[in-house]
Amino acid sequence: MKSSKAKLIVANWKMNPETSEKAKAIASDMARGSRAFGSIKLVLCPPFVFLGDVAKAVSVSKKVALGAQDVFIGKGAAHTGEVSPEMLKGAGVKYVIVGHSERRAEGETDEIVREKLSGALACGLKVIVCVGEKERNEHGDQFKEVKRELESALFKLPRKFVKNLIIAYEPVWAIGKSEKEAMKPEELHEMAIFIKRVASDLLGKAGIEKILILYGGSVTHTNAKEIVEKGNVDGLLVGRESLKTKEFIELVKEVGK
Ligand code: PEP
Repeated sequence: MKSSKAKLIVANWKMNPETSEKAKAIASDMARGSRAFGSIKLVLCPPFVFLGDVAKAVSVSKKVALGAQDVFIGKGAAHTGEVSPEMLKGAGVKYVIVGHSERRAEGETDEIVREKLSGALACGLKVIVCVGEKERNEHGDQFKEVKRELESALFKLPRKFVKNLIIAYEPVWAIGKSEKEAMKPEELHEMAIFIKRVASDLLGKAGIEKILILYGGSVTHTNAKEIVEKGNVDGLLVGRESLKTKEFIELVKEVGK
């Protein structure tokens, strides 16, 4: 059954583009293109240094919001190199990604992800928490890994935060590959149901239907619509393709049709 929730598409620019001029140009193109996005909300997550420029560029569109790729755990000032949730809010950021597999690969633990999630939610940001197995096998170990990550991230999460919680399922084996290697929509459908069940067991049933479940991993303008519709997810987290302005606008329009 097709979900009736408004869809969300999140662009994770990672450590791109090289210059603020390019960041401004991509963001302006997205803002201009957003008239054709239908009911889709788009979130652009540039590197921290480009947040100000991108905020300005997208301020002309109600359909494009600003996101960040990471956030610091907590409070206090003596944390060289870190950026707090309050600073992000002050820069116009509405969404933040936590627990991306590329950060986990650099040593971010389940506990750190939990603290980032609760700290950013407490500050009023909408948080996209990433989970996903490294490998898939016929024994179903992927379900165990995703469950473990969710149990840790959502442990004792106050119910009042549920409305700002977004779960991005990103199987690590599918990230940064060719579009043929994206997850099969039928398999995604099964995992999306599993994630909703685990979230409901952990957080209780009330309001749980408001949590958006996104998919990420080798999505392009040609496979996006099928993934969202057959995979029964509420949107996408897109890496590489989100920097190709023409193709990405096409992707968002297709999903919004
Ligand atoms: C990502 O890094 O979150 C991602 C989904 O990347 P890609 O779309 O390039 O696979």
